Amino acid sequence: MSYVNEVLARLQKKFPHQPEFLQAVTEVFESLEPLFKKEKKYQKYNILSRIVIPERQVNFRVTWINDKGEIQVNQGYRIQYNSAIGPYKGGLRFHPSVSEGTIKFLGFEQIFKNSLTGLAMGGGKGGSDFDPKGKTETEIMHFCQAFMTELSRHIGARTDVPAGDIGVGGREIGYLFGQYKKLQNSFDGVLTGKALGWGGSLVRPEATGYGNVYFAEEMLKEKKESLEGKICLVSGSGNVAIYTVEKLQQLGAKPVTVSDSRGYIYDSEGIDLVLLKDIKEVRRESLVEYAKERKNAKYTPVSEYPNDHNPLWNTPCFAAFPSATQNEINLKDAENLLKNGCKCVSEGANMPSSLDAAHKFLNAKICYGPAKAANAGGVATSGLEMSQNAAMISWTFEEVDKKLHGIMKHIYAISKETAKEFGEADNLVLGSNIAGFRKVADAMIEQGI
Ligand code: GLU
Repeated sequence: MSYVNEVLARLQKKFPHQPEFLQAVTEVFESLEPLFKKEKKYQKYNILSRIVIPERQVNFRVTWINDKGEIQVNQGYRIQYNSAIGPYKGGLRFHPSVSEGTIKFLGFEQIFKNSLTGLAMGGGKGGSDFDPKGKTETEIMHFCQAFMTELSRHIGARTDVPAGDIGVGGREIGYLFGQYKKLQNSFDGVLTGKALGWGGSLVRPEATGYGNVYFAEEMLKEKKESLEGKICLVSGSGNVAIYTVEKLQQLGAKPVTVSDSRGYIYDSEGIDLVLLKDIKEVRRESLVEYAKERKNAKYTPVSEYPNDHNPLWNTPCFAAFPSATQNEINLKDAENLLKNGCKCVSEGANMPSSLDAAHKFLNAKICYGPAKAANAGGVATSGLEMSQNAAMISWTFEEVDKKLHGIMKHIYAISKETAKEFGEADNLVLGSNIAGFRKVADAMIEQGI
């Protein structure tokens, strides 16, 4: 058995209850086989067995009181996966589905994503099974304060810098930061995604969505194609989806779908971004409202989805930007996208395609931008926020956007170059995994056992 398969088999035996983690590891390991054949040092230093084990992992209790005066308890997590190339960096996810395995898969992905940005950031991730849905403003604040009371002892501007992810946006980052500052009596750049008035960076809210579209443009340029005038599918309606829609519209493309946990919208005229932002960012309501206010839009509730596929991905399109959550595209969805003529899939969410769906895209030789390359613009701009905090300066919107665009071009270029180096020019999964891995693994070797 090869070294790669041996380590994988051991993990499968040890963590059978963490399927998302095993999926993320399998995807990376499959890509690394050719590197391990070429370079013997990674096996000699047993890098794979080392890199899959987090440097540190904390699970903690979060106790808080709801508006009715009842005592609530949630599970909190922070995983400090790898600090070979910089302080731990990665978001916090608040969602009822969050488990240790979820945080582990996200943290593992984050190591290579952060490496690809070219910035000095290690990999980390955290979160809670807290469900923000239906909670009042005070309940959200009380939960964030209780969560940070525990988390604060583990993080720091030079140690570990959390940010947002699903369920954690600007509002939550504010409450988390306020509590950290109260506990430490120190105004540090310990979180990113902060508001502009107290250390935030311009373009951070837009960065993941904009970056994903920049990445798709790079993939398409190679094939002498562009997004202009093209029908696009976007899933999700959070921060990533909203700014994907915005950038697509700026480039003259026509995004026609968005979704949330209750259903999806198909708007043949193209998504009304002003209405979408008002519903999701201001009113914090469901997409049912969108359909009520825009008559040509068709709303399909989740209860009407077929069992084996998501009808959103069965809509004819030129390009698809999955921006909701992991495994939102299964094999059947991938087949539907290809059958309907989709030429480009660029991943805004983390691991939105199942392993067999990803293989389908690769075999079809369409432009396929895997998450850790395509959605790295978010964390890259967090890195730019850290730089601005450290220097106590703020760059203009144009400056940050230009740097973000440059970073996305760089990620595309090294992923493509690396894919070519290993004889699979069209395989950006392989290219980005090897490029991201190599930098971290070399740093681990250089820093000793
Ligand atoms: N949660 C985002 C991601 O998956 C952003 C992380 C960050 O900015 O630290 O990359």
